[in-house]
Amino acid sequence: MSVLYNRVALIGLGLIAGSMSLAIRRAGLAGEVVGYARSAETRSTAREIGLCDRIEESAAAAVKGADLVVLCVPVGVMGDVAAEIAPALKPGATVSDVGSVKRAVIDAVAPHLPENVHFVPAHPLAGTEHSGPRAGYAELFDNRWCLIVPQEGADRAAVGRLEALWRGIGAQTDEMDADHHDLVLAVTSHTPHLIAYTMVGVADDLRRVTDSEVIKYSAAGFRDFTRIAASDPTMWRDVFLNNREATLEILGRFTEELFALQRAIRTGDGDHLHAYFTRTRAIRRGIIEAGQDTDAPDFGRTRTRSG
Ligand code: NAP
Repeated sequence: MSVLYNRVALIGLGLIAGSMSLAIRRAGLAGEVVGYARSAETRSTAREIGLCDRIEESAAAAVKGADLVVLCVPVGVMGDVAAEIAPALKPGATVSDVGSVKRAVIDAVAPHLPENVHFVPAHPLAGTEHSGPRAGYAELFDNRWCLIVPQEGADRAAVGRLEALWRGIGAQTDEMDADHHDLVLAVTSHTPHLIAYTMVGVADDLRRVTDSEVIKYSAAGFRDFTRIAASDPTMWRDVFLNNREATLEILGRFTEELFALQRAIRTGDGDHLHAYFTRTRAIRRGIIEAGQDTDAPDFGRTRTRSG
């Protein structure tokens, strides 16, 4: 594949930036990938494992001369980082981000950017519960979606080149409006995470009563919740604080449906439960048919399990 950007700068060196760097270098899409993270420890780890071609000691130094700058920090600090790098940006450069929330990030970042750079927000729908510079791997984005959220009047060449980068590192791309993105993600990702956090919290309270039986006999349903609930606390705090409206709307609907199911259990309404579970099973089939998950039992885990 040919080089799309002579120099790419990644600000923040965790799971997403690490995976991007490895995938960009795997595909030969950049002349050079430069990185920066806030802590000396992360920068030193990134150097040690050769995560980028070069690690700089400041965000401004990292973005100097870069043709593409991608903000890969938690959603709540995107604005601060944008303010920090703005004076050092190369005229004509593209600035993007990978934040899980789009409207709040656009509102926080756009006012800091000079007029002579292109801002093209994006969000790769790929991740794991691991974080930090050692968590990244080149295949993370393979066959996953990356949503591109261009602003009104965006430079089409800049948008097209960023889309080509995401496709070059394995993803499929779609364009979406910021508010719609935030609502879709509240349904598909944000609210499910909150529910997983809650369920694991409830079980943790119970664990104190039953002396670790919850962990010992943890069956697939609960274990899958614990995987999601192990996700990075800073990232997820920022997601909820910055996608407040859409998450609260979906949580409201969730609560209503939960009450309806609770009522069906209390009144012995088996038809309601059966019809509901039949509908949800079809959604799972749709996800598998769209190639977004494996059809293997228990997500393809090979170990035998209890429960
Ligand atoms: P991560 O592994 O926790 O890494 C975050 C990185 O940001 C760390 O290198 C951290 O530096 C750095 N950082 C934090 N505050 C900073 C600041 N003020 N200035 C410079 N660097 C700073 O996080 P991640 O999972 O890669 O997530 C990064 C972004 O991607 C978030 O906006 C998240 O919403 C989005 N996202 C995540 C996922 C996912 O599943 N994880 C999926 C899609 C999108 P230190 O190590 O020095 O603290």
